[in-house]
Amino acid sequence: MDRTFSIIKPDATKRNITGAINKIIEENDLVIIAQKRIKLSTDKAEGFYSIHKDKPFFRDLIDYMTSGPVVVQVLEGSNAVEKYRKIMGSTNPANAEEGTIRKLHALNIQENSVHGSDSSENAEIEIKYFFDEIEIVC
Ligand code: ATP
Ligand code: MG
Repeated sequence: MDRTFSIIKPDATKRNITGAINKIIEENDLVIIAQKRIKLSTDKAEGFYSIHKDKPFFRDLIDYMTSGPVVVQVLEGSNAVEKYRKIMGSTNPANAEEGTIRKLHALNIQENSVHGSDSSENAEIEIKYFFDEIEIVC
């Protein structure tokens, strides 16, 4: 079993579609083993997306990620990282495959409804950034 880290982003919480997204996650045999709804501070969001700090979209990304609640999650399943990236679809929903979360729900390249870790190493770092071990129940 592997773990990945997920965020249901503000465009999705604002439209009350966290349940619709969780349904897709669960239908694809990923188990939500931890979940909480929080509001990111600017510092927390900047730390999380620090890899993008020199990108032209960075300020907008931080404003967006702090614009409303997010739901942070730990997902468990076989090949969780790769599987979730596949279920999410491409960053830009215009390029996302049919049936993916982003194809079904994302608004545009920024307001793309979900985040998923891009490697197991990053998954471990990102999970630790948001969860204490006692909050993760298998
Ligand atoms: P995430 O890291 O959120 O799972 P991703 O790995 O598909 O998404 P990244 O390249 O890591 O995409 O970009 C992080 C986030 O920054 C995107 O999900 C999106 O919200 C935003 N973003 C990426 N590229 C652009 C862009 N060209 N214009 C505006 N926002 C962007
Ligand atoms: Mg990314």
